[in-house]
Amino acid sequence: MQKTFERMSPTDHQFKHALRQIGVITLAIAMLAAVALGQQKISDLKPTVILISLDGFRADYLDKFDPPTLKKLAKNGVRAKWMIPSFPTKTFPNHYTLVTGLYPEHHGIVENNVYDFGTVFSMSKLEEVENPRWWLGEPIWVTAEKQGQHTGAYFFPATATPIEGILPEHYRRYNGRVPNDLRVDTLLSWLDVPQKERPTFLTLYFSDTDDAGHEFGPESIENKYAAWNVDRSIGRLIEGLRLRGIDQKVNIIVVSDHGMAPVDGRKIVFLDDHFNFDLADKILWTNEIVQIFPKPGKLDEIYDKVKNIDHSTCWKKQDIPERLHYTDGPRVAPIVCSSEEGWGTTSHARYKSWVASQDEPYRTRGAHGYDNKYESMRATFIASGPAFKRGYVAKPFANVEVYNVVCKILGLKPAPNDGDLDHVRSMLR
Ligand code: AMP
Ligand code: ZN
Ligand code: ZN
Repeated sequence: MQKTFERMSPTDHQFKHALRQIGVITLAIAMLAAVALGQQKISDLKPTVILISLDGFRADYLDKFDPPTLKKLAKNGVRAKWMIPSFPTKTFPNHYTLVTGLYPEHHGIVENNVYDFGTVFSMSKLEEVENPRWWLGEPIWVTAEKQGQHTGAYFFPATATPIEGILPEHYRRYNGRVPNDLRVDTLLSWLDVPQKERPTFLTLYFSDTDDAGHEFGPESIENKYAAWNVDRSIGRLIEGLRLRGIDQKVNIIVVSDHGMAPVDGRKIVFLDDHFNFDLADKILWTNEIVQIFPKPGKLDEIYDKVKNIDHSTCWKKQDIPERLHYTDGPRVAPIVCSSEEGWGTTSHARYKSWVASQDEPYRTRGAHGYDNKYESMRATFIASGPAFKRGYVAKPFANVEVYNVVCKILGLKPAPNDGDLDHVRSMLR
């Protein structure tokens, strides 16, 4: 045994020595990793706003679905009873209104589909979306960059377009498949730079509640899960801010672009039952709003045939009610038809191909784009941070007001816009 011990002893000694060395090295690596991974605190934050868009997050989801992080933000900050979306209650017009303070008639994105320059702009044509000729007015990130601040956008319509030749310093081309948490973590990483490079205005965009609202309807359990999912991502953002020591210093503004109404695919108005499409140069279709560009001299002929349809209101451009702020813009169509809530205005051909493409064409789904007078179209506004009062419930206001609020917090001189800070000043500290 002794022999064995003596024989083993050097090996054992070497083994112990090696273990000790490994231990020392492991400890050193762990310490280095802790320094590297341990989140650096940010102690010199300038006034900062993170604007988060929850697409299609209807005003009543906050109480109906009770998402805990958003509830807490509202409790510690400001919530509007609801925010009034601009007409038409579609995604692109309203996002661009939120960041310019301009009604769609003034910022040019008069619908998700826009006709100008002899061509059609649509959300899916990235080459048009990224062409600045469509986007009038000045979005917040351009205002901020022009005045020497830095900005970062992990998605928000128009943030990948060089408006006035200016892009946010950090931005991404839109791709809805990017996981929400990656959007959050990337945005947080943009803050981890010296103060003079750090963005003061940042955006995030999550489509979950719009996706689920369309597919399953606003009242569905699937939509509740979507609301909780985006709530969890906002929780992740706040935790990331907390690790940096700035969760009480950043102003977080959560908005939506519009609400969502239940639709069931049977409430349909067929425009070709009323007029011959050969009378029009161009018709831009969505079920909720139809833009008709008549052939020269055919405006009155078309209008006479559509002016008294049930479940869809068609206006000549100059007769669109003033409350909709939709008469001024050169891109507003000469005739606009707006469906009654829950209804769709379409053609037989469009409807037939849609029905053929669906397994269950008549189950409940969701839609938006209707008149902003409907409760179902109401949008969300929640804001929390040092600039905002705590536990304050603001009376409803139009989404043109958000631009001035952000400019005020960031100390920016706003570009001319349709908002008036006096309408919303009371929410600020
Ligand atoms: P809507 O058809 O009005 O319901 O629009 C919602 C859809 O807009 C989302 O599901 C996205 O596919 C699309 N979208 C949102 N943001 C962008 C963007 N920045 N660029 C292109 N498409 C977008
Ligand atoms: Zn939307
Ligand atoms: Zn939508």
